[in-house]
Amino acid sequence: MDIFQKCRDSASYYAQVRNEGIYPYYRTISSGQDPVVTVGNDELVMLGSNNYLGLTNHPEVKEAATVALAIYGTGCAGSRLLNGTLDLHLELEGRLAAFLGREDALVFSTGFQANLGVLSCLLGRSDMVFLDALDHASIIDGCRLGFARRYKYRHNDMADLEKRLENTCNTGNDDKAKLIVVDGVFSMEGDLADLPSLVRLKNQYGARLMVDDAHGLGVFGTHGRGSAEHFGVENEVDLLMGTFSKSLATVGGFICGDAVIIDYIRHEARAAIFSAAPPPPSVAAAIKALEIVEREPERRKQLWENTEFMRRELTGLGYDTGGSQSPVIPLVIGEDLDAFKMTAKLQQAGVFANPVVSPAVPPGRSMMRTSYMATHTMEQLERSLEAFASVGREMGII
Ligand code: PMP
Repeated sequence: MDIFQKCRDSASYYAQVRNEGIYPYYRTISSGQDPVVTVGNDELVMLGSNNYLGLTNHPEVKEAATVALAIYGTGCAGSRLLNGTLDLHLELEGRLAAFLGREDALVFSTGFQANLGVLSCLLGRSDMVFLDALDHASIIDGCRLGFARRYKYRHNDMADLEKRLENTCNTGNDDKAKLIVVDGVFSMEGDLADLPSLVRLKNQYGARLMVDDAHGLGVFGTHGRGSAEHFGVENEVDLLMGTFSKSLATVGGFICGDAVIIDYIRHEARAAIFSAAPPPPSVAAAIKALEIVEREPERRKQLWENTEFMRRELTGLGYDTGGSQSPVIPLVIGEDLDAFKMTAKLQQAGVFANPVVSPAVPPGRSMMRTSYMATHTMEQLERSLEAFASVGREMGII
């Protein structure tokens, strides 16, 4: 067997998809991540972006990035541990910790790296980690890099989690260190983790709780502090992870919590200490975006108005939007190839939306993942609903 056989198998699958004219990936955008994007000669309503608050093209955010570029240049040429720490990184970490009411924060170059770095250094050989079946790939991979025993429970099924926690006690493992890791908002289904129940269980079984709030930050909670603020359980979340690649308009990730934990991660997380620091323009953009999140709650309000409008209208058209409770609204399609077909047809009808297929979702439950921005206009949303109506009927989905 040749190590490259899998590549040839994959190439023939994608060749077939391309032949049918429904290849949906790596579409080339020649504009910003705005409510309308340019793809080739087409102007498409963008319903596939995580730019929830519409800040990626905000003049103040761009100005902050430009100023940082002029002062610090294009990169840090090394890791935070040695030569790559700028005053700008410390400013961002201080602001994140203050905003989220934590003692300390540590910034990574991406959210993916944050999860890899944090989980791999925390999960030792004699520890146990409990994961939701729909946790993000970066959580799964971070746990794979750690040495702890992994227990996966059914998505948002608290009884299943409790059974697994109980089993560990019955098998003489009750003194082992335990961590529960969940997405605050699940990235594909758009539903929320049941944080109040998770808090009850972590306390009952002496575990710790880490929440990846990539899609909650800036979106949930009166102040935009995310899903834990929404549920009123901020003090019970031991570690809070977030990213700058959604509401915060750029790229990068962070972890925050008690100072002693963050300081351990600062010295042990390989994804931070052996990888270059986030570049100055991104750090400055995140600082400014965070300031706007705090200053302009009306953006969050508008995002929710757009979200509620679209959820109501899409459901009214007859779409199954799963358990969505957030600006991520999936439309359940079924077979993978149908999701690819729908992507192509929506594009012809003027809409950019993303297909989500197995293994990201269980086989037979492919979806179109739609997501909304505060900056979408009613005219753009109505235009996209016309496309969803005509394409959905043509394909027999609604
Ligand atoms: N966690 C979740 C829940 C995510 O959705 C993502 C990004 N899709 C990440 C982590 C990784 O974040 P980043 O894009 O900053 O690498």
